[in-house]
Amino acid sequence: MTPKSLALQSTSLRVAFITALGVAAMAGALNGALMLGQWVAQMEMRPTLAPAPAPVEKAEATPPPPPAFRFDAPLPGRVINSPFGLRQLPWEENGRLHEGVDIAAPSGAAVKAAADGVVIRTGISSSYGRFVEIVHKGGLTSLYAHLSAQAKGVRRGAYLHRGDVLAYVGNTGHSTGSHLHFEIRQGKKPLNPSFFLGQSFAKADDLPLKAAAKVSRKVRRATVSTWPQGVGAKPGAIKVAHLRNGRVRARIAVQAG
Ligand SMILES: [Zn+2]
Repeated sequence: MTPKSLALQSTSLRVAFITALGVAAMAGALNGALMLGQWVAQMEMRPTLAPAPAPVEKAEATPPPPPAFRFDAPLPGRVINSPFGLRQLPWEENGRLHEGVDIAAPSGAAVKAAADGVVIRTGISSSYGRFVEIVHKGGLTSLYAHLSAQAKGVRRGAYLHRGDVLAYVGNTGHSTGSHLHFEIRQGKKPLNPSFFLGQSFAKADDLPLKAAAKVSRKVRRATVSTWPQGVGAKPGAIKVAHLRNGRVRARIAVQAG
């Protein structure tokens, strides 16, 4: 064994070790530390056991397949300022489901695809404003709303990789300030995006579909910075009563005309 082949072998071992670290990290929540210990032990023993394998054959160094489902924040580094769940806007009489999350960002900020997928819908609606919808593996969809503009080439049928810029933040539709409204759905069912963003899932069965579909009965009262046009009541013209079951009842003095 020449020193050169030794060096090669140690390089491939290092690759295998890093790969092993990755695998162990993904196992994380279960018994990450234990696994890591086992891997380290195996790696330390291997040089004495392995009779100098040919450098070309490094089956052990094969990287693990990428996770089948991976979701990243559409606006990395920005915070969710209005979560998924029952929400009562100041001009509404009752709480209703906020079917996604709101992420505050200045107009023009680049919105990225949360996961790999194909654009199935783009358009403008009175509530969503300008929007883009993507279908992902497993039939999940993600929707990006209140956009100012779509990115070049983002049209129905376009394939997007996770992280590709698909549009720019705006304030179109029924919106009270520049932000991104972001949804994840399974069919028509809205899911809580917080269960997905920043997470990887090895297979479809691992997707937290049940947990993410749960809606707390608690109604959260939202505050807004601006009062949208076309709402028939002024701030202060509402009398809100908080009921014991967590719900809210409001009387709104509606303006004539
Ligand atoms: Zn929203």
